[in-house]
Amino acid sequence: MSDSLADAPGAATVTPGLGGRWRATILTLYPEMFPGPLGQSLSGKAMAEGKWSLDAVNIRDSATTKHRNVDDTPAGGGPGMVMRADVVARALDAAAPADDPRPRLLMSPRGKPLDQARVRELAAGPGALILCGRFEGVDERVIEARQLEEVSIGDYVLSGGELGAMVLLDAIVRLLPGVMGGAESGTEESFEGGLLEYPHYTRPREWEGRSIPDVLLSGDHAAIAKWRRQQSLRITAERRPDLLDKG
Ligand code: SAH
Repeated sequence: MSDSLADAPGAATVTPGLGGRWRATILTLYPEMFPGPLGQSLSGKAMAEGKWSLDAVNIRDSATTKHRNVDDTPAGGGPGMVMRADVVARALDAAAPADDPRPRLLMSPRGKPLDQARVRELAAGPGALILCGRFEGVDERVIEARQLEEVSIGDYVLSGGELGAMVLLDAIVRLLPGVMGGAESGTEESFEGGLLEYPHYTRPREWEGRSIPDVLLSGDHAAIAKWRRQQSLRITAERRPDLLDKG
């Protein structure tokens, strides 16, 4: 996988860690879902340390009708409801002024499938504004008018964008400077070299009649590196040959 940081618009000029913490603003009908799992473990600790921040804004606060409607029936008929362009735009505009440098993302199964290269670009930037859809999705006009980048987390349909936003943020936050323990643990992983990761083992040395491969206990670092590379290639060829074609 190529390191596409260099050709991402603006991304190469942003120095991670400068200009303050990485800032996420989530627009959602369910702000109480956040931070949820992002408040725990690695991302929760990083948040407590001020390495990133998360604001969850309720889209309903931007509704103007008496009943605070955020959705309406689809033009042309059909099932479900559609989130109104005017309400969503008001929420977006209130959350970030026009000159806010952060990318405006819309979680959407129609979006470009998220990959580690895009995660890295986003982590290198100042933050993100993330709109979570519900119902059948969002009126197309607000996607165009506010130039929202549609991001998919995979070829399946969720009931809302919130879990997708959490997946995206979890992947980003672990790459922020100082968040992950070992500086190298981010570079050896699946996808980082365009390959899936090699197998891991730890104590006990023998377990249910299975032993750790001898080479890993040999102390021969060159042999270990070679074995791991071979295993990565084998696993990638078996499970994800498309990644080898990409590289
Ligand atoms: N009718 C839409 C699906 C709506 S699902 C369609 O067929 O394309 C409701 C919301 O869940 C979406 O607006 C989006 O925000 C979120 N969502 C669903 N699947 C998703 C996925 N794979 N990736 C990211 N967001 C998703």
